[in-house]
Amino acid sequence: MKHVTLTLMLAASASIISMAAASPEEQPVHIARAALPVKFDNVVETIMIDNQRYEVPEPWAGNRLFPTTRNLDELRPIPPEYAYDGSEIYILAEALEPFVEMAARAHQDGVELLAESAYRSVHYQARIFKKRMKEGYRYEDIVRYVAPPGYSQHMLGTAIDFYPSNWEFAESEQYRWLQEHAGEFGFEETFSRHNRYNISWESWHWNYVGKAEPGLTAGIGIDIEEEIERIE
Ligand SMILES: [Zn+2]
Repeated sequence: MKHVTLTLMLAASASIISMAAASPEEQPVHIARAALPVKFDNVVETIMIDNQRYEVPEPWAGNRLFPTTRNLDELRPIPPEYAYDGSEIYILAEALEPFVEMAARAHQDGVELLAESAYRSVHYQARIFKKRMKEGYRYEDIVRYVAPPGYSQHMLGTAIDFYPSNWEFAESEQYRWLQEHAGEFGFEETFSRHNRYNISWESWHWNYVGKAEPGLTAGIGIDIEEEIERIE
């Protein structure tokens, strides 16, 4: 088991909880949320892909995420009946039960919720960029629709993309059901039509934020390359 503790070097909002060292046994995964995206005029956020440094543009800038602990032992497979095509999809252990309860309740209501994707590592996100760049796309174009490594909630293991993860989902009975009930199970639509992150609407993307504790961390001052090295 490898534990990674990150230190918040800069915090713009009192609601950002400082990252204290905690073992997963004591405090499984404690994730805090910035009240507003953290942005500083004099700070340029960058990421590394294939040893090249790239600037992180809007709307991602200020929305970097990081978990307080990273422990892949805490990932669990979603039961195949709730996974699109029965595929192997993993989410954070503490989100599994709420997810299964939610999917079972939806099923009782005649609505079939199928996860298409959930946990995706920082590396996976970087590989998307590498692949597209090999195909000849420019970083500036890819980053318009793909979250840079370190900026996707999927790396936290809390986010689920439901099937179909495209614009059609907004028209579905699944989406209507989630809008009405997901909150009861601790899930929220992160990138709603008008979201505070200024990121385009993703009706299929729902994030487990828990019942008491809201869910995601935004911050800067984290060296994502260093984080990757420590996790590997
Ligand atoms: Zn998503």
